[in-house]
Amino acid sequence: MAEIKTKNFSAASAQAMLDPKLRRALDRVASGFDVARQDRIEEVTPEVWEQWRQQARDIKIHTIEHLDYYLDLLHANVTAAGGHLHFAKDADQANEIVAHIVRTRNVKIATKSKSMVSEELDLNPVLEALGVDVYETDLGEYIIQLANETPSHLVAPALHKSKEDVAELFTEKLGIPYDEDIFHMAATARTVLRDKFMEADLGISGANFVVAETGTLVIITNEGNGRLCTSAPRIHIGITGMEKVIPSMQDLSTFLRLLPRSATGQRITSYVSMTTGPRRADDEDGPEEFHLILVDNGRSAMLADPALREALYCIRCGACLNICPVYQRIGGHAYGWVYPGPIGAVITPMLVGLKNAKELPQASSLCGACREVCPIKIDIPRMLLDLRKKTAESPDDSQRSAPESERMVARVYAWVMSRPSLVKFGHQTGRTLQGLLQFSPITPMTKDGRWYRKLPLPIVSKWTRGRDLPALPRKTFHELWEQGIADGPPTDATDSH
Ligand code: SF4
Repeated sequence: MAEIKTKNFSAASAQAMLDPKLRRALDRVASGFDVARQDRIEEVTPEVWEQWRQQARDIKIHTIEHLDYYLDLLHANVTAAGGHLHFAKDADQANEIVAHIVRTRNVKIATKSKSMVSEELDLNPVLEALGVDVYETDLGEYIIQLANETPSHLVAPALHKSKEDVAELFTEKLGIPYDEDIFHMAATARTVLRDKFMEADLGISGANFVVAETGTLVIITNEGNGRLCTSAPRIHIGITGMEKVIPSMQDLSTFLRLLPRSATGQRITSYVSMTTGPRRADDEDGPEEFHLILVDNGRSAMLADPALREALYCIRCGACLNICPVYQRIGGHAYGWVYPGPIGAVITPMLVGLKNAKELPQASSLCGACREVCPIKIDIPRMLLDLRKKTAESPDDSQRSAPESERMVARVYAWVMSRPSLVKFGHQTGRTLQGLLQFSPITPMTKDGRWYRKLPLPIVSKWTRGRDLPALPRKTFHELWEQGIADGPPTDATDSH
């Protein structure tokens, strides 16, 4: 399984926020992908878009509720088409299935089209250990393979890299003169990879969907690399999560409307490739063998949890990442595992264990933008709250996200707030202190009565590093009430805080 670095989330995100190159790259996410997504919605009208979303959500609810039935149906139809369906309960088992095929078929070169599940399995090192030369063929994946990095976005894996970074990388790894022209760089990658497609014994792909009624694997790409990976080599292995099954081709048409528009703001991607079994006797091309590996790797636990099952509806469009104020500031790597952003903050703790990723559900302002943009209407904020509840209530102290000291503060706060006389006393004391601080040269206030962010007081300065500390109102609610607030709104804006 891919290395889990989720425990480093706080430090990694703090570091990411200080990286100016990453900031520039992330600025393009909202202005590029999300604007294009909104344009496409306007084009079909928001009413039609809502109908499509509801249709897709209903299909997902139905399929996940009857997953056992559709997996059986898929098995029957993949087999009937001459393919092999394998179930893998975890990453080790999935990698072993691939390794067995590689060993028994004497595979030497493999090409891969984009597959987040293969990132989850950390498949490339397994293949390399078997002596296989592996080539990622999606341009973004190819770039990060050369850089020995991991994807930072669900649909744009090299989003964190500038064109200058890529030009330097190509010079270093491919030995070509420095050239930051994007078309030239794409042409270089194409030339290198074209030969590999022709030489490869094995093509590995992910799957955007697998259709149960026909046993068909569906991938959508913009570069055509997926089609070459799945048709040129003599063996094709598709690897995906078991939640990717959908009932029928008619259902597929709903998702094909939603996914490209949500992911990249396209009406449809350049290539929609469907593979049903190996080549037939009268086919001009296609693989001699077709294997589909459906990976569980923690998904059964999600399925068994009614509060988190909804995360299995995700079609990995990345729209929730593009709109998320947290992702927009820290990017994907800080999340520390394969799936970043709001949906990653739900999926990752379920797949790697809440104990290992307890900080991720906290990485959200709960603004709800992810739920608004999600084409499947997945209620991510509700699930994040559920995970927070699970960590807070865990009997195992190491699983809790809040340290004992923080929970002690919360208990003291609750104790004080339930005693009106103490609250009144605290308010009076606070106002007195505030009055004194107001005249101190080191603690100026802003015009709207808010403290400057770095209030130089012990403990408080830590709190105000990332938050405003509003000035206390001149009158408490009790005082206003006694003066007759019920008769009308206060006239002093400060008093309305
Ligand atoms: S949760 Fe929704 S918006 Fe986010 S990647 Fe999945 S389908 Fe797309």
